[in-house]
Amino acid sequence: MSLEAIQALLLSLVPCFFWLWYIQGLGRYRREPAWMLGLALLAGAGSAYGVLLTCDFLEELAPGFLTVPHEPLRLMFYFVVAVGLMEEGWKMLCCWLAVYFLPSFDEPVDGLLYAGCVALGFATAENVKYILEAGGPAVLVGRAILSTFGHVLMSGVWGYALGMQKCRPSRAPLWLLALFAAALGHGLFDWFLTMDWPLAAVAVLAALWWLFSLRIQETARLSPYRVHRVHRVRECPRCGILHRAAASYCTGCGQRNESASAVCANCLTPAGGEERCARCGCLFVKTASTAG
Ligand SMILES: [Zn+2]
Ligand SMILES: [Zn+2]
Repeated sequence: MSLEAIQALLLSLVPCFFWLWYIQGLGRYRREPAWMLGLALLAGAGSAYGVLLTCDFLEELAPGFLTVPHEPLRLMFYFVVAVGLMEEGWKMLCCWLAVYFLPSFDEPVDGLLYAGCVALGFATAENVKYILEAGGPAVLVGRAILSTFGHVLMSGVWGYALGMQKCRPSRAPLWLLALFAAALGHGLFDWFLTMDWPLAAVAVLAALWWLFSLRIQETARLSPYRVHRVHRVRECPRCGILHRAAASYCTGCGQRNESASAVCANCLTPAGGEERCARCGCLFVKTASTAG
C-alpha cells in the first residue's frame, strides 16, 4: 500500500468514525457488540468492491451498456437503476449475508443500525477511491456530509425493512419494495446533483432524513429491551392520593401511612419485593426502604 493510499484511508476514516459514533447510539436500549459493527463496516467495503466487479462484468458482457447517457430522462433512469439499484442492492445483500442471521440482530432498530454501518463501510471505500482519483483530500469536504451520511439515510430505507422482517416475519416482501424505494431516492439524489439542481438534491436528503427520524422513533417504541421504571406507590386512606411507598407520610395531607400495601404506579397491581411488576413488567425504581 502506498503512502498516499494509507493517507487517503486514514482521512476517510474520520467521517466514518464520526457517523459510526452516531449510528451505534441508535440502539439506545441495548448496545450492539463492537465486532458486529466492524463486520458490517467490512461488509459495506466489500459491497463497494462488488459494485466495481459488477460494472466490469457488465462492461465485458455488453460494452457501452454502462455509458452515461446525455438525455435527461435516460440519465435519470441510469442513476436510479445502474447506480441506485446496483449500489443499494449490493449493500443490502452484504448486510443480509454478514449480520442478518446473527443472534445480536434481534430488534427492529438493528436493521437501521447495521444498514447504517454497511453504508458507512461503502462510503468510506468510495471516499478512499475518490481521494486517490482526485489526487487530494479536498474532495472529502463535501463528501463527508452529503455523500457519506446520504448513504446512511438511503440504506436506512431497506435497513428498516430488514429489521422489521427479522423481528416480525411476514410474507410480504417489504424488503423488495424498500430496496426499490432506496434506489429511487439514491438515483434522484445523484441525478439532481448531475443536473446541477443542488437544492433539489438537498430536498431528497431532507425527505430521507425525515423518514429516518420517524423510523428511529418507531423502532425505539418496538424495542423489546425498552424498560419503564416506575415507583411503588401507596394510596393514602385519608385523602386518597397515591404517594411513593418509600415515604412514611402522605405527601398530600401528612397522614402517617404504613398500613396500605404498595402497588405498581403503572397498573396498580400489588407490588412486593420483586424487581419488576408481575402484571405490566415495569421495572421498579430502587429505593432504600423498599429494597427487599
Ligand atoms: Zn393523604
Ligand atoms: Zn404494573
